[in-house]
Amino acid sequence: MKDIDKKGFETRAIHAGQEPDPSTGAVMTPLYTSSTYKQSSPGVHQGFDYSRSGNPTRKAFEECMTSLEEGRAGFGFSSGVAAISACVELLQPGDHVIAMDDLYGGTVRLFNEIKIKSQGITVTYVDMTDLKNLDAALTPNTKMIFVETPTNPLLKIVDLEKISEFAVANNILSICDNTFASSYVQKPLSLGIDIVLHSATKYLGGHSDLIAGVLVIGKNDEELIARMANIHNSLGPITSSFDSYLILRSLKTLPIRMERHNQSAFAIAKELENNNKISKVIYPGLENHPQHEIAKKQMNGFGGIISIEVAGGSRIL
Ligand SMILES: *Cc1c(COP(=O)(O)O)cnc(C)c1O
Repeated sequence: MKDIDKKGFETRAIHAGQEPDPSTGAVMTPLYTSSTYKQSSPGVHQGFDYSRSGNPTRKAFEECMTSLEEGRAGFGFSSGVAAISACVELLQPGDHVIAMDDLYGGTVRLFNEIKIKSQGITVTYVDMTDLKNLDAALTPNTKMIFVETPTNPLLKIVDLEKISEFAVANNILSICDNTFASSYVQKPLSLGIDIVLHSATKYLGGHSDLIAGVLVIGKNDEELIARMANIHNSLGPITSSFDSYLILRSLKTLPIRMERHNQSAFAIAKELENNNKISKVIYPGLENHPQHEIAKKQMNGFGGIISIEVAGGSRIL
C-alpha cells in the first residue's frame, strides 16, 4: 500500500497518482499530448513508449481512481460504454451473463444489439432486488454478473455484499456500474465486487464538458489485470490526455460536490413528496423506498438523482 492510500478520501481525491512533475516541479500533472516517447535504445524508455499503451496524464487519472475505489489497477476509457464493452471482452462465445433488469439503456443496447451477436454470449436480465431470482438464472455457463446500483433511471438498489457472495460461491466475475452513486458515495470493491466501473461523463467529470469512462479491478489477480491491460491496449478505447487532465481537475472537488448533491437531492425529494402534482417520488433516501435499508448500509448519502411520476400520467397531444 502506498502512503497516499492511507489518507482520507478528500486528500486522495486531490493527490493520489499525482507527483510534482520531475522535469519542472509543476505541482499539477501536466497535459502530455505526445503520442510517442524517446527511447535511448530500442525498448529502453522511461515507462512510456506510445500513448495508447500508456500516457502520463492518463496514468495519473487511473492511479487516482484506483486509490479512490480502493482497488489494484485502473483503466481509463473513452466513454462509460467503452469500459463496459471491455469487461464483456473478458468473456468467450457461449458464456452467459446475469444482468440487472433496470440497467442504463446504452448497456442493454450494447448487450442486445452488439455483444450477443458479435461475441456469441447470452444474457438473462433479472430483478436482483429479490436474490432468489439469481439462483433461477444461474446456468453452468454463467461467467459474469453485471449490476448497477442505484439503477438509471428507476433507482433500484441491490445488496452488493450479497451479490459478491453469490459470485464467489459460483465462481463468476462480478461487475458493478457505480456511475449513479460515484466513488464518494459507494465502494463496491470493499463489498467484494471484482470490477467497478463508471461513466466518468457524469459525477466524476462533473462539469458536462467531457465523455469518458473508467474501470478499477479490486482483486489482486495478476492474470485478470494483465488480460484487461491487453484488451485496453488492443482495442484502444482510451481516455484522451486532455479528458484525463479535466477529470483530474474535477476529482479534486468530487467529495464536496457529492456532499452537496446528497443534501440537495434529499431536501428536494422531501419537498416533492408533499407536491400533489407528483404521484410518486423515487429516492433511496426516503423511508418508503423499497431498498432504503440496503441503501443506508452500503451508501454514504443517497446520491443526487431523484425519479418522479407525474400525477395523471403522460399525455400525448
Ligand atoms: C451514462 C451512463 C453510462 C454510459 O456512459 P457514457 O460515458 O455515456 O458512455 C453507463 N452507465 C450509467 C449508469 C450511465 O448513467
